[in-house]
This record gives sequence, C-alpha cells and structure tokens, in this order.
Amino acid sequence: MVTQCFKCDLCLGRRNIVNPSGDLTNCKILFIGEAPGSTEDRLGLPFVGKAGKLLDRMFGLMNMNRNRGIVITNVIKCQPPNNRPPTNIEINLCFLYLQSEIEELNPTLIVGMGNTALKAITGETTNRISKWRGKYIIQDNRIFYFTYHPSYLLKNQEDDKIFKEFYSDFKFIQKMYTIL
Ligand code: URA
Repeated sequence: MVTQCFKCDLCLGRRNIVNPSGDLTNCKILFIGEAPGSTEDRLGLPFVGKAGKLLDRMFGLMNMNRNRGIVITNVIKCQPPNNRPPTNIEINLCFLYLQSEIEELNPTLIVGMGNTALKAITGETTNRISKWRGKYIIQDNRIFYFTYHPSYLLKNQEDDKIFKEFYSDFKFIQKMYTIL
C-alpha cells in the first residue's frame, strides 16, 4: 500500500494515490490495468469509472465477484495528465510498488490488461497486446495471462472481433477462477 510517493511528476497532479482493491486477504487472481483515470483519482479506487463498469459487466457475465478471490490494481498509482499513457520512466519508477503487491498478495494468476501492463510484466517495451492476448507465461510459480484493456473495447465498440477475443480470454480466466 502506497501512502506517500514523490518519485515523479505525477504526484503534482493527483488527488489520491490509487492502491489495489478487492479480496486483499485471499487473492487468487490479480488484474493489472494501466493507471487511474479521473474517477479513480477522485475516489482513490481502481476501475470505478467507465472502464471499471465494463470490467464489472464481464465479471457479471462470468459469475465472478471482484471482491472474492480477486484484486484489481494498476501499473501506475497516480493519474497521468489527460489520461496519457505512462512513460517508460514512470512505469519503471512505479514498478517496485507492483512487485511488492505481487509478493504480498501472492496470486496464482496475474492478468495483465493492455499494453502498459504487458510492458511492465514482460519488461519488453516493444511487446504489443494484440500479439500477446490470450497467451500466458509461467514464471516464479505464477501464471501471467494477457488480455485487452477494457478501455480499448470502449474505444472500439463497433469491432465485434475484439469483443469476442476479450470474451474468450475471460472464459479462460473464469475457468481458472473456478479451479483456484
Ligand atoms: N484504467 C486503468 O487502467 N485503471 C483504472 O483504474 C481505470 C481505468
């Protein structure tokens, strides 16, 4: 849990540092997004704005409860100006927090949503989520799985293929949710 941080310029514009939320004492699956948006910055909670509503709809469809066995967090804990993608420097500076969250929460499955989570997890800045979605890596006794960021679906609502892929990725996540 980050209570104070002045490592980068994002501290100047934030209202709240956004820490993980969900089933903090029994985390089987950790979902990782990019960075807080304005609703998250205002409330100090991850995925409570439009992208969060879409994620909640997916959880509903999959009979998953975001407060049971699930924790949601972001790579970056403070909102970037105008919701621009975080820089590689910001990702690196914030990465220690994500690492300690993973160690403390000890999830079996980690779901990276979108390019920023993919970059942070793989440490490879040229990786693209379109290539990696639906794929997993096993490392340090954990499964790392990748899917689209919910905001990407909101921006491409007319694209049925993207929704079908997202849905099929969630079918895999749902299967894991029932066996973990
Ligand atoms: N997008 C994110 O990546 N994280 C949030 O918490 C909200 C929107």
